[in-house]
Amino acid sequence: MLSAEIIAIGSELLTPTKTDTNSLWLTGKLNEIGIEVKLKTVVGDDKMRLEETIRDALKRSDIVISTGGLGPTEDDITRTVAARAIGRKLVYQDDLETDLRERFRKWGREMPEINKRQAFVIEGADVLPNPNGSAVGMAVETGEKFFVILPGPPRENQPMFENFILPKLRRAAGEIYVKRRMLRVGGVGESAVDEAIAPIYKLYETVETSILFNKSEIEIHLAAQSNSETEADAILEELAGKIIEKLGVAVFSRNGELMEEIVGKLLCENKKTVAVAESCTGGLIGGRLTDIPGASTYFMQGVIAYANEAKIKTLNVAPEIIEKYGAVSAEVAEAMAKGMRELANTDYAISVTGIAGPDGGSEEKPVGTVFIGYADDAQTKSFKTILPGDRYLIRWRASQTALDYLRRQILKTQTTE
Ligand code: ATP
Ligand code: MG
Repeated sequence: MLSAEIIAIGSELLTPTKTDTNSLWLTGKLNEIGIEVKLKTVVGDDKMRLEETIRDALKRSDIVISTGGLGPTEDDITRTVAARAIGRKLVYQDDLETDLRERFRKWGREMPEINKRQAFVIEGADVLPNPNGSAVGMAVETGEKFFVILPGPPRENQPMFENFILPKLRRAAGEIYVKRRMLRVGGVGESAVDEAIAPIYKLYETVETSILFNKSEIEIHLAAQSNSETEADAILEELAGKIIEKLGVAVFSRNGELMEEIVGKLLCENKKTVAVAESCTGGLIGGRLTDIPGASTYFMQGVIAYANEAKIKTLNVAPEIIEKYGAVSAEVAEAMAKGMRELANTDYAISVTGIAGPDGGSEEKPVGTVFIGYADDAQTKSFKTILPGDRYLIRWRASQTALDYLRRQILKTQTTE
């Protein structure tokens, strides 16, 4: 298996103002063709450090890709330093200068003399054309190693890499295709998920499976490797199918979709409408549902009923219930859902009332106590959960729990119809 290494060049990448994203994009592309990135380095515009870095990289890795520092200014040192690091000369190519002059002329400008530097390339390198900028890229074979030098701006280096480097590397890597898929699972813990599915995914040696916890759900990442694209897809499909069969309804997303997308899709397919009454989530659920394009076909209304007054006036919650059970209670959650559904005239309504903290908890109702209410045409019900985390996480998890509850209810009513 070929190993790759990435060098991001530019002093600004070592400051908090600019992040190296080139290496992330390149890593994604390399992984797709079965090449693993073993190391990446960010180097400032420092000749000595850059030369050292390039030399070391070419000792360690089969493929070294650098980005940045190919501009015409004094601080763009990649061209000269790279040549020195591999012991080659820079040679002048008059066709490159002609191209540059032509390019400037098209912009209605005269080429500044310093841009002449960009007409120098490493001896023996393949020149990678740059339709989106003035700096050409270079690809050099040195010994057994392959060194690719790309300009810094993503809109310049991405097409260059995809058009000229990727096909070559794919052949060198032996036509490996890596296909990825992600499933999301709600309402089950990380270890429980692993316990349930490890006996299944362990049988698939060509698939890399990883299980990650993310805010309020478990993500199952699958990466299948094969020398045929269709086979990689087929293996993924088969394994994902077995995992879904094992975990059942807990798998809310089969292709990495978000919970709000899935709920939206279900509402749409079933031609149903929803309204949400939110207390502690403060509009988060409504916000998430309406983030999805096309939400207007199923999302009718949201009410943020934070104060007791609002719950009473807007959602028609009886003051006596609040008095008797407290605003954070099953009774109030149900009354909110019922009131919301009547107000908005929808098929479903969900509600949330809880204590997001950090203050306001009690022994009986600690911070994180959340009641989710639900109403449809046949029933009104609720359930209680105690969510861990800080205020942000409790609110997020409450929104997720409420949406998942709605999802499960839609699925239930769907199958019993
Ligand atoms: P130019 O001819 O535009 O000067 P260059 O090859 O010299 O190209 P740099 O000067 O190093 O490239 O970077 C130009 C711009 O490209 C940066 O300002 C930044 O916006 C972007 N860039 C450079 N390196 C990276 C990186 N590693 N990740 C993301 N963006 C980058
Ligand atoms: Mg530059």
